[in-house]
Amino acid sequence: MAIAVVGSLGLDTIETPAGRVEDVLGGSAAYFALAARHFLPVSLVAVVGDDFPAHARAALEHPELDLTGLEIGAGRTFRWEGVYSKDMNTRRTIRTELNVFERFKPVLSPHIRAHKNVFLANIDPVLQREVLGQLRRPRLVLADTMNYWIQNKRAELLEILKLVRIVIINEEEARELTGEALTHKAARAIGLLGPETVVVKQGEHGAFLHGTGPAFSCPAYPIESVIDPTGAGDTFAGGFVGALARMGRVSHLNLRRATVYGCVLASFAVEGFGVTGLQRATREAILSRAEEIAAMTRFNLPDSARIIR
Ligand code: AMP
Repeated sequence: MAIAVVGSLGLDTIETPAGRVEDVLGGSAAYFALAARHFLPVSLVAVVGDDFPAHARAALEHPELDLTGLEIGAGRTFRWEGVYSKDMNTRRTIRTELNVFERFKPVLSPHIRAHKNVFLANIDPVLQREVLGQLRRPRLVLADTMNYWIQNKRAELLEILKLVRIVIINEEEARELTGEALTHKAARAIGLLGPETVVVKQGEHGAFLHGTGPAFSCPAYPIESVIDPTGAGDTFAGGFVGALARMGRVSHLNLRRATVYGCVLASFAVEGFGVTGLQRATREAILSRAEEIAAMTRFNLPDSARIIR
């Protein structure tokens, strides 16, 4: 049992009210893999340039991460730069340089083709399709995306949505994709495009789960200080997919549990610049935060009929 992920891998320059870092390890596949490795082994499918620094590669070296599908292409590594607002709720993209990703044609090795769980992390939907097409008999197929691809490759993205069982998407992007202002209506509209389950990431407000069962809302873990929100969404996906694939069965209960683990892992990601917060997450701390969130979501209203006149 393992998870294959295709997504971006690159160098981020990030400015938040807490400071600025340049050319640190980033990309959707990096955050995803560093979160999902707490549940199952992860095989990365991505490309970096010949300028990819040793410190960035070292940050990906864990016994649970399979880097054999990581290609080193001639040219520059993918780069992204973003600046956050004072309250960190919004960010402005300063530049997106696809670089070696523009010519990337992944050819999966037989052992990665045999993976049953696949996460199509945020990257060109054409690449997501190419990787999915090479998997022999995938059982659990999930995907994410972002505004860049909604604006630039909408038709290709809609094709991908027809092929995935679960989509994980940011609230603002769910609205942009569907034109629906209300989150639950946007989630329902995405469900009509193909996926059976839609998980909407809501930043500091947690996540909303829409599927065949009753809806579920999970709060974010209340942390003391946010240093850098970059990658929180990809990290959420790593916790969600990792937990769900590990549990095996896609039941309503397991989808809720996976949502809790997504929120837990995301809480570590925002506590440091780049992947540093996530790298500090330990098994014990993950378990303890999961219990705290579970306690926050359990509430019943005994005697509610006596409360209302
Ligand atoms: P998130 O904060 O979860 O939206 O993810 C931020 C990460 O996504 C950063 O590490 C970026 O390197 C990466 N990223 C930014 N723009 C793109 C894009 N257009 N395609 C793929 N990855 C991107």
